Amino acid sequence: MAHSLICSPHSTPIACQAAMSSAPRVALVTGANKGIGFAITRDLCRQFSGDVVLTARDEARGRAAVQQLQAEGLTPCFHQLDIEDLQSIRVLRDFLRKEYKGLDVLVNNAGVAFDTGDPTPLHIQAEVTMKTNFFGTQAVCTELLPLMKPQGRVVNVSSIMSFAALKSCSPELQQKFLNETITEEELGVLMKKFVDDIKNGVHKEEGWPDIKLVTYAVSKMGVTVLSRIHARNLSEQRRGDKILLNACCPGWVRTDMGGPKGIKSPEEAAEDPVYLALLPSDAERPHGDFLMEKKVEQWGLLSQFPSWVPF
Ligand code: NAP
Repeated sequence: MAHSLICSPHSTPIACQAAMSSAPRVALVTGANKGIGFAITRDLCRQFSGDVVLTARDEARGRAAVQQLQAEGLTPCFHQLDIEDLQSIRVLRDFLRKEYKGLDVLVNNAGVAFDTGDPTPLHIQAEVTMKTNFFGTQAVCTELLPLMKPQGRVVNVSSIMSFAALKSCSPELQQKFLNETITEEELGVLMKKFVDDIKNGVHKEEGWPDIKLVTYAVSKMGVTVLSRIHARNLSEQRRGDKILLNACCPGWVRTDMGGPKGIKSPEEAAEDPVYLALLPSDAERPHGDFLMEKKVEQWGLLSQFPSWVPF
């Protein structure tokens, strides 16, 4: 098979292991053309035994990122993926099924945030941020989690801001987000309600947080709770497959999103996601957990927030 066909039509013509085996191992990172996702991809290229697929919503930016890694002697594949575009997700799903018969590692990294001083009206910020961070991540999971192979690893790059959001919600809302039996549907309804409440100017009365970066924080609260739900579902429905799914916070990072004052480089920030992506095949935990600095933080029980968390 010609290499140019391996990841076609969205791929770069490079030597993927798919040419050598019927179903090689494969890891995939969303939003990998820059920032933390790019650093995660670089580490996976070095440490993961299998193909690594760098995905980006913009093909030119994605291919430029692949070329950058190639210049370092690494060999990622490229595939287009816009997590807000169901058709784009399904093309990727079909590609993974055909070339790899599934997926071994999924890192949901793609995300957006508005700066604190951004003049965009709050209801637009809420809609855009929720659409990408929560509903986009959820759509990727809906299509790709069924492809996860036994001993697969799923990492959702969330944020400690999800804990800040939870802490600042009304007791009634806190109870809902802490509920061990909350369903994905109920969570989706709550995330949509947040956007509607912002639009209607009633989000404070309805118990939502009144903190800086509120739309980002609530969207990441959705990602953290979604991770707990998906981990629970995997435990119930695919127990024997030993798939481990976790969320993490990379810290405050010097990227386009985090700005130049962040306290970590993207390379340092990649450590936790890569650690979770490469948990040994016999590992049984962490699963359904939230990690920061490789330490499990119990949902809702963070005793002290890092000083950089903007309340
Ligand atoms: P970044 O430099 O802004 O990179 C974000 C990446 O996500 C870009 O590749 C972007 O693509 C991609 N993306 C956005 N919307 C997308 C979509 N609809 N489909 C596919 N890709 C999309 O941000 P970062 O700092 O690396 O952040 C990575 C992750 O870490 C995010 O989930 C973020 O919330 C989380 N995080 C970051 C920090 C921090 O301090 N930086 C702290 C905590 C958590 P384009 O280039 O096309 O826009």
